[in-house]
Parts: sequence; C-alpha cells; structure tokens
Amino acid sequence: MTDAHDTPLVDFYLTGSLLTDDERAVRDRVRRFAEEHLRPVAREAWEREVFPHHLLPELAALEVAGGTVADYGCPGLSPVAFGLAMRELARVDSSFATFFTVSGGLVPVTIAACGTEEQKTRWLPRLARGEAIGAFVLTEPEHGSDASHLTTRATRDGDGFILDGAKRWIGNATICDVAIVWGRAEDGIAGFLVEPPHPGFVATKIEGKLAQRSAPQADVRLDGCRVPATHRMPRGGFGAVAEMLSLARQSAAWHALGEAIACYEIARDYALRREQFGKPIASFQLVQAKLVRMLGEITKAQLLVIQLGRLLERGEATAGMTAYAKLSTTAMAREVAATARDILGGNGILHNHDVMRHLCDLEAVFTYEGTYDINTLIGGREITGLAAFT
Ligand SMILES: Cc1cc2nc3c(=O)[nH]c(=O)nc-3n(C[C@H](O)[C@H](O)[C@H](O)COP(=O)(O)OP(=O)(O)OC[C@H]3O[C@@H](n4cnc5c(N)ncnc54)[C@H](O)[C@@H]3O)c2cc1C
Repeated sequence: MTDAHDTPLVDFYLTGSLLTDDERAVRDRVRRFAEEHLRPVAREAWEREVFPHHLLPELAALEVAGGTVADYGCPGLSPVAFGLAMRELARVDSSFATFFTVSGGLVPVTIAACGTEEQKTRWLPRLARGEAIGAFVLTEPEHGSDASHLTTRATRDGDGFILDGAKRWIGNATICDVAIVWGRAEDGIAGFLVEPPHPGFVATKIEGKLAQRSAPQADVRLDGCRVPATHRMPRGGFGAVAEMLSLARQSAAWHALGEAIACYEIARDYALRREQFGKPIASFQLVQAKLVRMLGEITKAQLLVIQLGRLLERGEATAGMTAYAKLSTTAMAREVAATARDILGGNGILHNHDVMRHLCDLEAVFTYEGTYDINTLIGGREITGLAAFT
C-alpha cells in the first residue's frame, strides 16, 4: 500500500485519500521517474533549449503514455490517474510535461476517438510504447483562439488529399512520427495523419522562447503535402476538435497544479531556512499569510481537478467544467509562482531555485489549450446559453 497522503506538507486536506490504489501507484511511479531521471537534467535542458530525448524509454516504462485510451496497448488510465502523471511531471519539468500531454495524451485520445481501425492499430500501440511521437497540428499564424476559422486547405486529388497552409506553435512537430493535421476539406474540417519526414511537411523550430524552452514547438509549412485518403480520420468537424481540446484542458489544469505545488514547496522550504531580523522569515506573519494563501489555493484546485476527473470518468463533465478547471488552475498557479518568487527575494530570480523557470513556463500553460479569456467565454456560453464568440 502506498501512502494515502498525497504529498506530505502540501496535501493539506489529505486528498490522497480520495485516490484509488491504482491512481496512487501511477502517482508514485511517475514521481520517482521525475525525481530520479527528469530533475537532474531539467534545468540544463531548459537553459540550452534541448529536449531530453534520452528519457523516452524510461517514460515509456511508466506505462502512462496513451493515457485514458483503454485498448490497442494503451494503459486505460482513469482521468485522475492521467492527471496525476501530468502533475508529477510538471512539478519537475513543465516542458517535458507539455511534450507528454501531446504525445502521450491528446494525440492517442484523438486517434482513438476519430480514427479508423487501421489508424488505431498502426499508431496507438507505438505511441503507448514510446516508439512513436505524436503532434497535434491545429493552430495557424492567423488563427489561434479562432482556430475554427482555420484556412489550411485539404484538396481532393484522386485517391488522396493535398494539404496546403501554415501552422504555428506546434508541439513536437520537429521530432514527430505522426502529425494530426487539421485542414478544411470540401465537406468541413478534417484531421489527416501525416508521417514525417514527408514531402511538403516542413517543421521549423521556434527559437528564442522564454517559456518551456526544452519543449520543441515549431512553425509548420504544408506545401503540396499529399496523403492517401486512408490517412483521413473519419470523424471530423470542429465539434470533434473542440471535444479533444476540452479533454486536454483537464490535463493542463493538473499541469498547472503541479507547478504551483513545486513553487509552494520551494517557497516554504526557503522561508524556513532564510533568516532576516534574526529569525526565519517563515516566522513573520506576512510571510505566513502568503504561504497559507498559496496552500489554500492549491488545495481548492486539487479538489476541483479530482472531482473533474471523476465527472469525466462518468461522462458527466461539460465543456464549461473543463474550461473553468483550466482557467482557474492556471491563474492560481501563476499567482502562486509569483508569490513564491517574492518569498525568495533576490534569489528568486536565479535559475538554480527553479521558481523563475516555473513562473515563465506557466505563461505557456496559461495560453495554450484555450487562453484564460477563451475558456472564460466557454464557461459564459454554458452558463448563459449565449455565445460571445463563434
Ligand atoms: C508553448 C505553446 C505550445 C503550443 N502547442 C500547440 C500544439 O501542440 N498544437 C497547436 O495546434 N497549438 C499549440 N499552441 C497554440 C495555442 O493553442 C495558441 O497559442 C492559443 O490558442 C492562443 O492563440 P494565439 O497565440 O494565436 O493568441 P490569440 O488568439 O491571438 O490571442 C491573443 C489575446 O487575445 C485574446 N482573445 C482572442 N480572442 C478573444 C475573444 N474573442 N475575446 C476576448 N479575448 C480574446 C486572447 O485571450 C489573448 O489574450 C501552443 C502555444 C504555445 C504558446
């Protein structure tokens, strides 16, 4: 039996007791991997903007890639177990967690939900075993929040389709084996499986990021990129895309929670060690107030994402619920990270304390899978029945 306490000193309301044994086992083995293998390389990978490719076999051995998909060699995790895996990775390395949420979560979930039998058999076992890397190719330079207006064309050409257009901010695009490219066909938006290297698919790494520096994101040019008709996923339309993004939002919420926990742990530890005016700064009332607020907000977010996971498992979660979990958790984590930075004083801006890395990385999580504003509008639409955007 693993400890019911989720994280000593952080799990204020003993939410670990709300988890199943299987979920605790996933949490513990991902945490061990993150501490033993990811932590030693995370800081330097971030600094040098290099993805730690060599960790993929160890990641695969955790049997969490493929996430909630149940068949085709995927682990069939509960949404909470997948969330815990995300939390534990993000607690150590936000960039790596972002790689994982796409290749180990969003891509297999999308192929499972939208693909043909042949597409599932070809890709899901390989994604689960870590032998293939996936990318989700939706955002365009001129269409981010309004991705439903995407202009990438998918033109019928005999027994295939030709993809033309430009994509931006595509995670894993420079290192992927399968890319789900969303384009506009005659009958609406559809997803096509492209297998790079492939003629007409050119991914160029985006340089100079100050967030999630070791996660490779890319601009993608699709120039006469021809794929056989068998590579088109049968289920499409922006409704399918929105459904997949909605599922990814729970992952982003757990991701932000992991980073908030990391920052709280660092700040608490620092406040107990750092002395000013002859005493640990943790003894000052104002510092305690900050720590209490941080832990309180983390606790509320923790309870929210566990309940969201249970609702997802029962098929009762709405788009508004996942949107709210994502927007509130990322906003909370951003505030917690900034407060932690403050508690560390000048040392807070140093790379070797990790808080600044989390603070920067959270800016990316705040924006992707729908910005704070867009997720607010998704919630607003659900509450009022009136859409403030199309
Ligand atoms: C690190 C990173 C990784 C990513 N990974 C992927 C990936 O793997 N695949 C992929 O397809 N995409 C990916 N994205 C893209 C991401 O989903 C978009 O950046 C996001 O949807 C926002 O789009 P945008 O950057 O074009 O901002 P914009 O849409 O231009 O938004 C700019 C600002 O305007 C606000 N805004 C826009 N519309 C409205 C409105 N109607 N009402 C109120 N405010 C509004 C936004 O909230 C925001 O504050 C990634 C992005 C980042 C930064």
